[in-house]
Amino acid sequence: MIDAKLIKFVDLAAQQNLLSGSIQTAMNRVLAHGQYIMGPEVLALENKLKSFNGAAHAITCSSGTDALLMSMLALGIGPGDAVICPDFTYTATPESIAMTGAVPVFVDVHVDTYNIAPSDVEQAVSLARTQGLTAKGIIAVDLFGVPADYGELLALAESLDLFVVCDAAQSFGARYRNKKVGTLGHISTTSFFPAKPLGAYGDGGAVFTQDGTLADTLASLRVHGQAVGGSKYDIQRVGINGRLDTLQAAILLEKLRLFPEEIESRRAVADRYTKALSDKYITPRVPEGIEPVWAQYTLRRKSGSRQHLLNYLKKHGVPTAIYYPRPLHMQSAYRHFPSLTGANSNSTLLCNHVFSIPVHPYLTKDQQNRIIELLDAFEG
Ligand SMILES: *Cc1c(COP(=O)(O)O)cnc(C)c1O
Repeated sequence: MIDAKLIKFVDLAAQQNLLSGSIQTAMNRVLAHGQYIMGPEVLALENKLKSFNGAAHAITCSSGTDALLMSMLALGIGPGDAVICPDFTYTATPESIAMTGAVPVFVDVHVDTYNIAPSDVEQAVSLARTQGLTAKGIIAVDLFGVPADYGELLALAESLDLFVVCDAAQSFGARYRNKKVGTLGHISTTSFFPAKPLGAYGDGGAVFTQDGTLADTLASLRVHGQAVGGSKYDIQRVGINGRLDTLQAAILLEKLRLFPEEIESRRAVADRYTKALSDKYITPRVPEGIEPVWAQYTLRRKSGSRQHLLNYLKKHGVPTAIYYPRPLHMQSAYRHFPSLTGANSNSTLLCNHVFSIPVHPYLTKDQQNRIIELLDAFEG
């Protein structure tokens, strides 16, 4: 059996071994032409991303966080506005709302998919109103790579006159009812942080939209609000420095070639886990019509605390992680914002009980078996 000590939570080295020649060549090309900012690889990557997911417009940017911030700015969000988002997500989601001077309103998630519960949205709109705020939209998060319930969310958003931004930082490459992530909602954002399913060798992100006017605004926001295609000193709005480095674009172009196969490998690992572990553990539910990318495989015990189990896995060479240990409504930076959640919410329950096991595409069959056997054998 392969030494279990070699099991990694994310294995960027294995991927690099497969790609090293082509990544070196691509980086050398950038060093030779020297266009480090907005070089030709940036546009080439945007075209490849669009053909990959079918989005009408792709605007790459400096991170998944800036992708969210640019989306809020493009949609005109600011003081007096409220934007609804799940309580169980990464900090970057509400941060993008609060940075504009608007207020995030936290809602609960489904206990089995971990994604935003559309049934809470109407009440969140009312809660915002009681605080003198106007709810303008929703940021739905495709947590762990499983798209949110867009059928219901988009219908609800239309009836309440709200926008839907899809935080697809973990779900780029996933499908929702035959549509790829990036084509759902008004705007979708993703992240190329190294550990995401499609990761660069540094920070990076992208914004997708079907709306040409929003796309022009996003492209302008990315370069300090400059007029797109116009003069560097014709500033039309307050923007940011949100560009993706040419070197990162060159690296991502090479990694994108492997990405479809990597998604299949992640799915195969996740399917094995679900088959093998569902009797003993509460494994993630994937609704009909969804093909996830499995950025994380996140589960919980049917009873008992997770700490002994995580210690036991660690002792046997299996790394784990907890996404996320604390709900946003309990974070000191966010607890003064309105929230429909509390001590008895699913978000709190999940923060106290979930854990994630390795699901990267380079786990060998033996390593998968080892992880399954250990989880299966655990008592206590
Ligand atoms: C990673 C992540 C982000 C932020 O992406 P960065 O590229 O790290 O800025 C935003 N939202 C979610 C859900 C994420 O997982």
